[in-house]
Amino acid sequence: MRKIFIAGNWKMNNTLSETKTFIEEFKQSVKSIDNIEIGIAPSFVNLAYAKALCQDSNIKVIAQNMYFEDNGAYTGEISPLMLKDINIDYVIIGHSERRQYFGETEETVNKRIRKAFEHNIKVILCIGEKLQEREQGITNIVLEKQLKGDLKELDNNKVAEIVIAYEPVWAIGTGKSAKTEDAQNACNFIRKTLKDMFGEEIAQKVRIQYGGSVKAENSKEYMSQTDIDGALVGGASLKADSFSKLIKAV
Ligand code: PEP
Repeated sequence: MRKIFIAGNWKMNNTLSETKTFIEEFKQSVKSIDNIEIGIAPSFVNLAYAKALCQDSNIKVIAQNMYFEDNGAYTGEISPLMLKDINIDYVIIGHSERRQYFGETEETVNKRIRKAFEHNIKVILCIGEKLQEREQGITNIVLEKQLKGDLKELDNNKVAEIVIAYEPVWAIGTGKSAKTEDAQNACNFIRKTLKDMFGEEIAQKVRIQYGGSVKAENSKEYMSQTDIDGALVGGASLKADSFSKLIKAV
């Protein structure tokens, strides 16, 4: 049985004081929820503080990215050792905004995942097609290519622990969420591809989130799909009130 996992990706939002206000309110609001895994991904500068505030709570703290070297002359990058040192629970790798604006490729995503696995940091891997690709009818081809490149030659046992966020790029931050049936079909295709790559047992263990304009009004419907095991949420996760409503609606 896969446990539902709902994670909030704050991107470049929420200052230190906003992070504090959010966590104080959110902690109270979700404290009795134990059937859903809950996480937030604040900015790097607020991660350690968020982690300390979330101690003794059911809120996981997630990094939005990570570099694929341990240390060295990589100005502006964040080392896995830094994330380990503050006991970060997960790291998001390969978000479409990283691929689109910061030149990340399947090769660099693969290197990051390898490095995270080496340090036992759990990974949320984001994949998804662009609007043009959906319109051309090549969604599955794109998803398969990303999975094969991103997860190339990885250790089977570690892959079982990975969380995959299926995020159609055209649905991110646009208010245009994917039709439930389309999201389920894509997540089912991802699971089938994982089966071809790593076998049935692993494919059944991997949790697949849907991401793209998830809100309180549609979260339950997505989560009730056979192959959707959670959500990666942007806009609706920025305020404690809207994020807790979205989680409680499931
Ligand atoms: C995201 O950032 O991963 C995301 C899904 O954003 P939104 O919920 O705002 O579409």
